Amino acid sequence: HEKLIGGFRRTSDKLGDNLSGLFTKTTLDHETLDEIEEALIASDLGPATAAKIRATLGSARYERGLDEAGVRQVVADEIAAILAPVAKPLEIEAFPRPQVILVIGVNGSGKTTTIAKLAHLLQEQDYEVMLVAGDTFRAAAIGQLKVWAERLNIPIISGKEGGDAASLVFEGVKQGTARGTDVLIVDTAGRLQNKAGLMDELSKIRRVLGRLNPAAPHDVVLVLDATTGQNALNQIEVFGASAGVTGLVMTKLDGSARGGTLVAAAEKYGMPIHAIGVGETIEDLRPFDPQEVARAIAG
Ligand code: GDP
Repeated sequence: HEKLIGGFRRTSDKLGDNLSGLFTKTTLDHETLDEIEEALIASDLGPATAAKIRATLGSARYERGLDEAGVRQVVADEIAAILAPVAKPLEIEAFPRPQVILVIGVNGSGKTTTIAKLAHLLQEQDYEVMLVAGDTFRAAAIGQLKVWAERLNIPIISGKEGGDAASLVFEGVKQGTARGTDVLIVDTAGRLQNKAGLMDELSKIRRVLGRLNPAAPHDVVLVLDATTGQNALNQIEVFGASAGVTGLVMTKLDGSARGGTLVAAAEKYGMPIHAIGVGETIEDLRPFDPQEVARAIAG
């Protein structure tokens, strides 16, 4: 919890800086409401959320004005209301086994680290996990995932750089089925800047999976770096539907002043958010708790 609050501190500090000075006024007149709305937009919460909060603050309910704590409470409540419907932990179904989770995300988004964190979280829930090093375009990505697998004592299917990811996935499902693996987590190439290439790759993986198990992949998780703000939102726009994304993990919410990106994503796309990354260690994947996050952002 401490880490989470600490993680959002820069966002709430920024929001606080943006809001401070506005509270010398006792009533929430039009000008003050305009300024609050601008402060919310500057905190990456997105124009729709900012307008909604402004409308609430401007409603008859608050015509006698609000102090800073009161405004923060309204902001926290509105944010929580936006986040609540999208908070959805990753659910592991009992059948068929293994459940297959494809993980996609641009290079540098924190995809590899998130896979390791997720594997660890599932291990702690007594699931048998196996990894597939399907980001075959980067030798470094294969190497890094192997290091995590070793550290976590998790089996991993990997091949050479430039190898065929779909065959690795095939091998993963085959071995996973034989070993009674519960969850197969598949890393994929982070070439999201090359949409056609990624789509080809994903459809090949889907074809192979479909032959082995029509329900797979059970989840397609898009990993987003919160510090990239609007860029992260663009990725949902471009890949959300076309790559069949079923849920999001937003990383690097620690030490970023852009925690509002999470709210903007929820408001605009309404896609399930499974978890958030608040650091570089294996323990730093947090279940997504809307109330906790809303309070942390509003300060
Ligand atoms: P990939 O290229 O998408 O596989 O990204 P990596 O998993 O290699 O992560 C890129 C960098 O971001 C690494 O230095 C990670 O330690 C770091 N990173 C990943 N997730 C987080 C997070 O939630 N918080 C912070 N502060 N750093 C993170």
